[in-house]
Amino acid sequence: MEQKNTIPRSLYGLDAETIAEILSLPRAFYGKQIYQWLVKGVTAFDEMTNLPKAERLRLKEVMDSAISSTVETSETDESGATKMGIRLHDGKVVECVLLIDKRGRHTACLSSQVGCAMGCTFCRTGTMGLLRNLSTGEIIEQYIHLLAVSDQPITHIVYMGMGEPLANIAPVIQSIHYFHEKESFNISLRRITISTCGVVPGILKLAEQKLPVKLAVSLVSADNRLRSRIMPVNEKWDIMALKKALMVYQHVGGKRFTIEYCLLHGVNTNEFSAKKLATYVAGMNVVVNLIPWNPAEELPYETPTEEEIDAFCRELDHYRVNYTQRRSRGRGINGACGQLAVPINKGLDY
Ligand code: SF4
Repeated sequence: MEQKNTIPRSLYGLDAETIAEILSLPRAFYGKQIYQWLVKGVTAFDEMTNLPKAERLRLKEVMDSAISSTVETSETDESGATKMGIRLHDGKVVECVLLIDKRGRHTACLSSQVGCAMGCTFCRTGTMGLLRNLSTGEIIEQYIHLLAVSDQPITHIVYMGMGEPLANIAPVIQSIHYFHEKESFNISLRRITISTCGVVPGILKLAEQKLPVKLAVSLVSADNRLRSRIMPVNEKWDIMALKKALMVYQHVGGKRFTIEYCLLHGVNTNEFSAKKLATYVAGMNVVVNLIPWNPAEELPYETPTEEEIDAFCRELDHYRVNYTQRRSRGRGINGACGQLAVPINKGLDY
């Protein structure tokens, strides 16, 4: 029982050798067996049936469970998207979403922080402020909970849930290595996307690590003054500092990022905004992803009209900007981009 203080709350994120060492396993290969159960989503030592019974009983004494979080809520909408509220060991709650696209591709959208310090004014999570960072294990556990309700393997991961992944970069990178590991989920790095609001040191760090994941950069406006009003992060790293970092990222690792442009009715959809955007992306090998803003009652924006979006697209065509239009999945359960936030009125302790 004394060991309880020295062992971690979660075994997710640890390799087989570390598991064997931490749990003082009498045989090293037990560590591998436990690791294999964990990636199958089996977290109760009772159910790890290839371990000797006495060992299973001992492990239950040492550690209540191999997983530190539980599913608090789970709802699925008509698009097949499932949003979960995950209760962490300290009672705080984060959200994650399983998305299924038209081709049947299953994607896990994961949170990296409880809340977020970045304060983007179009984002529900931004209204919460930052409560804390998630550990590597807590990030991986979200995937495990989603896997339990998925009828197929989850082959893609996007770090687009609550929080700014590059503000909690070490656990995020460790979780990516875990997902990529052949012995665990063997997910290709190219099927993993990190979304950032433009944390320049984080982008440079990713470039330095030469990790071939995809990067999605939320721009929202290519006009410095307007962007600062919408996204406070622009005060620290403005659009030119961001562009410089993106050029380095591209130079080091090839074409691996998209510009996310959230369309806000009457704010960033006029001719001037299109021209600014065209000038900004000139010289970058990049695709601009247009995303109509997802409604959130408490925020001071509106979704653009179809005519407004069409007119903006015509301007981009005129300037020969390479863009795509993204359809929001998960909107029915507030699980689309910028919509993740635990409703305060649910009385959850986050
Ligand atoms: Fe944070 Fe992303 Fe929301 Fe900005 S958009 S406040 S970075 S979660």
